[in-house]
Amino acid sequence: STGKKVALISGANKGIGFETARQLGQQGITVILGARDLAKGEAAAAELKKEGIDARAVKLDVVNPADVKAAVDKIEKDFGHLDILVNNAGVNFEELGGNSTLTTSDDTLRKTFDTNFFAVVTVTKAFIPLLEKSDAGRIVNVSSILGSLSLHATEGSPIYEAKVFAYNASKVALNAFTIHLAHALKGTKIKVNSAHPGWVKTDMGTDAAPMELVDGAKTEVALATIGADGPNGGFVHLGETISW
Ligand code: NDP
Repeated sequence: STGKKVALISGANKGIGFETARQLGQQGITVILGARDLAKGEAAAAELKKEGIDARAVKLDVVNPADVKAAVDKIEKDFGHLDILVNNAGVNFEELGGNSTLTTSDDTLRKTFDTNFFAVVTVTKAFIPLLEKSDAGRIVNVSSILGSLSLHATEGSPIYEAKVFAYNASKVALNAFTIHLAHALKGTKIKVNSAHPGWVKTDMGTDAAPMELVDGAKTEVALATIGADGPNGGFVHLGETISW
């Protein structure tokens, strides 16, 4: 396809997703802000439109299969293809810096996996046909350095004490999806990578985080726009590779 690129960012009504939409929009890409609360998505899109960005909103609760199907149908009808999918929506129900391995309920574990893992698989599979119609389909799975199994297994590593068990395990699973999908996409024009945004000042990251939003979106934006020579199946933070 030719013309303007089209990107869908899940969980884009606030935080890193919103800033990712802004920075992709600043590059002339049409950005579709996925939001589980459509009113919040539309308010966020209106803010970007005021900045001259071609932004729209779509209702997308990533754990709701009916929303996923409706979003695919709408984007197919409006654009006929999709160039960029940023799987950014994520949840953490545990206390940062805690040690929740034995205290996290089964219900919290499942709810965390529903959004951070299962929904990403569902959404991605649903959009593959539209991404296949792009000249350079790009999928970015917004993971976390807390999804590095090898760093958790390394006593004394910087993340060793960050034991938000359900969250970390869900991002490990997400990283496994990135690796497996990258293999499945070999020989196609689509690439998929995991991003670690950094520890970023958002509702999830809290005010204690050292990184500003503008920098926190840079890794996703870079992976969303990599060329044909860029990585497939990588785990990246600001151009640096992170160990799985
Ligand atoms: P925020 O809590 O600020 O934003 C999370 C976004 O995800 C919100 O838009 C939220 O929507 C949305 N969301 C949650 N559940 C769903 C759902 N079921 N369907 C659709 N949208 C949903 O977090 P951040 O911006 O910090 O996080 C963005 C991503 O970055 C996450 O995947 C997170 O794990 C990751 N990350 C963040 C780090 C940080 O330091 N901030 C560090 C490493 C990774 P709503 O407003 O409706 O709740």
